[in-house]
Amino acid sequence: MPAAADPVILDGIALRDLMVGQIAQRMAAAGNPSVCLATVLIGDDGPSRTYVRNKHKFAAAAGLQSRNEELPASTSQAQVEDLVGRLAADPGVHGILVQQPLPSHLDNDAVLRLLPAEKDVDGLTTGSLGRLVRGEPGLTPCTPLGVLRLLEHYKIPTAGRHAVIVGRSTLVGTPLALLLSRKGVDATTTIAHSRTSDLTELCRSADIVVGASGQARMIGAAHCKSGATLIDVGISRTESGIVGDIDFDAVKGLVGAITPMPGGTGPMTIACLLENTLTAATLQGITV
Ligand code: NDP
Repeated sequence: MPAAADPVILDGIALRDLMVGQIAQRMAAAGNPSVCLATVLIGDDGPSRTYVRNKHKFAAAAGLQSRNEELPASTSQAQVEDLVGRLAADPGVHGILVQQPLPSHLDNDAVLRLLPAEKDVDGLTTGSLGRLVRGEPGLTPCTPLGVLRLLEHYKIPTAGRHAVIVGRSTLVGTPLALLLSRKGVDATTTIAHSRTSDLTELCRSADIVVGASGQARMIGAAHCKSGATLIDVGISRTESGIVGDIDFDAVKGLVGAITPMPGGTGPMTIACLLENTLTAATLQGITV
C-alpha cells in the first residue's frame, strides 16, 4: 500500500478504455458476429440524452451494433410497452436498456417486467436480481459491476474485508452488497441508508466505503480509516458543478485508494453495459 498521502487513483476512464479494447478484440476474434444493444430514451432529460449518446459511442468503439429508440415525454404506457415488447421479441436485438428515470406518469416496473432476463443488460429486472441473489449466471447491474471491476483491476483486497455501502437502492447499493459478499469476492458487507445511526463511525470501521447516496460530499475525513479504499458512485448537480458523495480533497491524504469524480464509476458503468451486452449475446447462443 503506498503512503497515505499518495492514494492510488482508481481510474475508471483508463479501465473503461482497456475493457472496450478487450471487447473489440473478442468481437474481432469471433469474426465480428452481429451483437446489438438497443436503448430506449423517453423524453428530453438532458443528462439522460448524454448518457445514451455515450453508450452508443462506446458500443461502436467496442465493435457492437446499437440502435436508439426515442419516444416523447408525453408517450403513453401502452406505447412504451409496445416498443419494449417488440425489442424483446426481435432476434436481432441482444440487449435492451430502458434509460432511467422514466417520466413520472409511466410505470417503470411494468416496463421492466417485459424485458427477458437474457436481454436485461441493465440487470434490473426481478429475474436478473434473483439470479444475482442465487449466484446463478446472469446479468448484473452495471454500476455495481463497474465497482467490482475497479476493485479487481487495482487488486484492492476484498476477502475478509469490511465494505460499507452507503445507499440501499436496487440500482446500486443492494446489488453491490450482494456482489461484494459473493463467494470469491468474500467481503463482509454492511448496507447503510438514511436511517443508519452512527454512519460516521460505521464508515470509519470499514476497509472499503462506497458512497451511493447522492448527497453531495457527505463522506469526509471523519469517515475514513487510514489506508481505506473509497469509491464514489453518487452524482449531485450543485451550483459549483457535478460533485460526488465523497469530499475528495478532504480525504485524499488519508486513504489508500480512491476514485476520482468524474472519471471513476461513471465510465465503468458504460464499460460494464458493454460487458453485459456481450454476456447477453452469449446467453442467446452467440459465440463471442
Ligand atoms: P436512490 O435515491 O435510489 O438511493 C439513495 C440511497 O442513499 C437511499 O438508500 C437512501 O436511503 C440513501 N441516503 C440518502 N441520504 C442519505 C444519508 N444522508 N445518509 C445515508 N444514506 C442516505 O439513488 P440511486 O441508488 O439510484 O443512486 C445513488 C447515487 O448514485 C445518485 O447520486 C445517482 O445519481 C448516482 N448514480 C451514479 C451512477 C454512476 O455511474 N456513477 C449510476 C447510477 C446512479 P433511504 O433508502 O433510507 O432513503
